[in-house]
Amino acid sequence: MSFLVDTHAHLMMCKRPVKELVQNALDHHVNHIVNVAVNIETAKQSLAQSKEYDMIVPTIGLYPSEVGRDSDVTSMVDLLKSENFKAIGEIGLDYVRCEVPKPIQHAFFERQLEIAIETGLPAIIHNRGADEDVLMILKRFPKVTCVVHCFSSNYAFADTLLSTVKAYFSFTGMITYSGKEDVHEAISKIPLDRIMVETDSPYLLPKSISVQENQPAFVGSIADTIADIRSMDRESLRTQTSQNAIQFFNI
Ligand SMILES: [Zn+2]
Repeated sequence: MSFLVDTHAHLMMCKRPVKELVQNALDHHVNHIVNVAVNIETAKQSLAQSKEYDMIVPTIGLYPSEVGRDSDVTSMVDLLKSENFKAIGEIGLDYVRCEVPKPIQHAFFERQLEIAIETGLPAIIHNRGADEDVLMILKRFPKVTCVVHCFSSNYAFADTLLSTVKAYFSFTGMITYSGKEDVHEAISKIPLDRIMVETDSPYLLPKSISVQENQPAFVGSIADTIADIRSMDRESLRTQTSQNAIQFFNI
């Protein structure tokens, strides 16, 4: 069976010990976990965890609700000089759950996209209720390679992004909930070499799983859901999305 990559999890926010999460993941053929930071503190934790477990891939970035301090950007640039982070993220815009004023969110999103280009690293983008402004900003960074994480918009938006930047799309357990026809249409039309899978652990537990907290071991059920939506072989879907992740994150 092909291995899987969970391209977006927050191990530092999970209740269970990392050792157990890693072992469960490996037992379910999940060979890599991208451990996504939301601020400087969690970036340091992600890095420390990646040094303890080879299969953990560290990232660094300031989440929309964590922006506002220039000193954090300085710390980020400094850490990137000495440490082997694999992506800038998660960064982006959140117009639903975030109190930070839009102009500040925009400024820090842009600054971090510049850092992605300067370092040659891909960006992990968080977009909640901000399709138009995410697009407007990405248009200024045509050289960026990015993944729109937990993609939940429609195909028209995905298609526009595909012609704007080198865009990838990753899907969470959200696609297993009802009333997601638009997202399912996007899943069936986005080119297969731009699709990745993620759990967003400890959040967004897939519908069929009845435990309290999500974990990387469950990413296979999301891959299978995508394969079924695309009416394709589950094994081929796993192989291709894992290859995409390996290339994207340069694992
Ligand atoms: Zn996340």
